[in-house]
Amino acid sequence: MELKVCHLYPELLNLYGDTGNVASLVYIGKKLGIDAVVDRVTLGDSKSLTGYDIIFIGGGQDSEQRLIVPEIKAFRGAELRAAAKDGVTVLGICGGYQLLGNYYETLNGERLEFSGAVDFYTKAAPKRAVGTLRFRCFQESGGTAVRGFENHSGRTYLGKGVSSLGTVTEGVGNNGDGGEGVRFLNVFGTYSHGPVLPNNPKLCEVILKTAMGRKYGEQRDWT
Ligand code: GLN
Repeated sequence: MELKVCHLYPELLNLYGDTGNVASLVYIGKKLGIDAVVDRVTLGDSKSLTGYDIIFIGGGQDSEQRLIVPEIKAFRGAELRAAAKDGVTVLGICGGYQLLGNYYETLNGERLEFSGAVDFYTKAAPKRAVGTLRFRCFQESGGTAVRGFENHSGRTYLGKGVSSLGTVTEGVGNNGDGGEGVRFLNVFGTYSHGPVLPNNPKLCEVILKTAMGRKYGEQRDWT
C-alpha cells in the first residue's frame, strides 16, 4: 500500500534535522507495510499539492519564513486550506506549524500572512522558548507521551474550537498556557524538534495510520 508524501520547502524549512521526520515516515511506514513515496516541493516549484496523502513542513527562521509569504499568498495558502478541509494529513513543525495558521507577527511588529489552513495566530515574544519539550497527546492523536526540544520566539494562540495536540508536561509549548501544538481534522502541528518522529515512533505511526485510514479505510492490516 502506498502513501504519497510531499516534503514542502525542504530547502528552506529544515531546522535542527527536521528532515529526519520524513525519513521516519519512510522507515516506520515500511515496518507497517506502507510504501511512503516522498516528493520534495521547493519554493518556486509550481507542482500542485493535490493528490498527496501527507504534507510535511519543517521548522525555519523568521527570515526563511518571510521568503515563503508571496508564494503562500499566490497559491500555496489556498492549496493548504483545501488540503486541511479535505482531511489530508499535514504535519508542521515549529515554523512549519506556524505557517499553517493565519499569521506570524515578528518581534518588530511585521505581520507575515500565512495560509490560514487552521484558525490560529502566532506572535513573537522577546524571550525565546528553548529547551526540552515534553507533552502528552490527547486520545484522538494516540494519547502518547512525546519528548523533543523547542526553540522558538513565536507564541501561538489557537482559535475558538481549535484543539491543541496535547498538554505540556515540560517546557513552554504554544504560549505557556499548558497547550502544545494543534490538531484540527488531520492537521498536526507541534513546536517539537528532535526530530520529533524518529524520537517518538508511536506518533509517527499515528500520522501514517491517519493518512492510511483516509485513503484505504479504517484500521486494518495494510501489509
Ligand atoms: N522563526 C520561528 C520562531 O522563532 C520558528 C522557529 C523554528 O522553526 N524553530 O518562532
